[in-house]
Amino acid sequence: MNTTQFTACLQHVAQGMIASEPRLTALDQVIGDGDHGIGIKRGFTALQTLLSAPEFSPADIGDCLLQSGTRLMTSMGGASGAIFGTLFRAGGKGLAGRRELDAATLAEWLEIGMQAIHQRGGAEPGDKTMMDALAAAATRARSDTALPLSEALANCAQAAMAGAEGTSTMVARFGRAKNLGERAIGHCDPGAVSMALILQFMAEFTH
Ligand code: ADP
Ligand code: MG
Ligand code: MG
Repeated sequence: MNTTQFTACLQHVAQGMIASEPRLTALDQVIGDGDHGIGIKRGFTALQTLLSAPEFSPADIGDCLLQSGTRLMTSMGGASGAIFGTLFRAGGKGLAGRRELDAATLAEWLEIGMQAIHQRGGAEPGDKTMMDALAAAATRARSDTALPLSEALANCAQAAMAGAEGTSTMVARFGRAKNLGERAIGHCDPGAVSMALILQFMAEFTH
């Protein structure tokens, strides 16, 4: 997909994330402080405003990601504002100048995002964060680089959701759920579900 299509894709993602607010709120009420859905809704509403402004004309895929990430980071708040902002901003810097998002570029973005988020917050797969969904998606994307983007995205989204569901058996080592210790077992990490939903809405856009 080209930059214009990618902008439309992110608009679809924003719409979907805003509509997912109740689900994400419910998850964060169980193992966090209950504000994840509100933060996601605030961030993606601000993103929607950016993407639909007549003066928004990103130079390329990287620029679109970078501007989107800055908007998310400055509006969403909480741990997830920094984390998801980093996913988009680091991807934007890494993909500067790219005019086409294909399956290989998607794999690059997820890989860059993972490294940047690890550097920022220290989380690794297994710590019960969004990293568990992102790592599962990145692994899948790495083996799907020859597929059409729509298929790669569908596989990634599925892997990410399985990764998010897998957080339910984990004890958290980051974020507020850390304070719950073993009591967090049996509940999914809200940020991991958000990560999977972002990919799911991207996949939905391409189908
Ligand atoms: P807060 O915890 O500040 O209320 P949110 O509720 O919006 O922020 O987001 C919580 C989510 O952020 C968690 O579910 C987790 O996935 C993610 N998160 C928190 N800390 C980290 C971290 N260090 N690395 C990656 N993700 C993190
Ligand atoms: Mg919270
Ligand atoms: Mg909070």
